[in-house]
Amino acid sequence: STEEQQTEDYLFKIVLIGDSAVGKSNLLARFARNEFYPNSKSTIGVEFQTQKMDIDGKEVKAQIWDTAGQERFRAVTSAYYRGAVGALLVYDISRRQTFDSIGRWLNELHTHSDMNVVTILVGNKSDLKDAREVPTREGKALAEAQGLFFMETSALDSSNVNAAFQTVVKEIYGILS
Ligand code: GDP
Ligand code: MG
Repeated sequence: STEEQQTEDYLFKIVLIGDSAVGKSNLLARFARNEFYPNSKSTIGVEFQTQKMDIDGKEVKAQIWDTAGQERFRAVTSAYYRGAVGALLVYDISRRQTFDSIGRWLNELHTHSDMNVVTILVGNKSDLKDAREVPTREGKALAEAQGLFFMETSALDSSNVNAAFQTVVKEIYGILS
């Protein structure tokens, strides 16, 4: 057989979690399709999107799951988390309340998935400089205390969006390969 046929196939399930309207769906839209929706409603959420990525010259597929807005009712089901090896735990730097919810989301993640799920804390909407309610150092400190990666992103201006997904996928690849 040819070398192509011997290529290993990596498929990593990654979940997006965090309060409603922090920008989860737009992070995925920006990452997978380079799109942004200025007035998105929860209905734009797809169940999941599979994105091919290049990690150290190997093709890796990230299957990224998005909620369909059910987080508003605190009703994200265990099926959503099942088999996840990575998670983006998202808050909005312009809404303190979404940062205060992070502990609850972390508990839920650990209840429904493996303790070793590779997790990055993501402070989204870094473009909203004048409306910032959560200083960068607070996000960083929480991430360090909980053993999470950390990054501030903007789905609007694209900053760090690829980097956030890459960080998670690279780490998973390093553990599983
Ligand atoms: P979700 O409920 O967590 O999936 O949040 P959405 O992706 O639907 O985004 C909620 C709202 O925030 C929408 O009006 C988006 O346009 C807006 N939004 C998302 N990401 C950003 C961002 O990085 N910067 C700004 N300024 N707005 C954003
Ligand atoms: Mg959404």
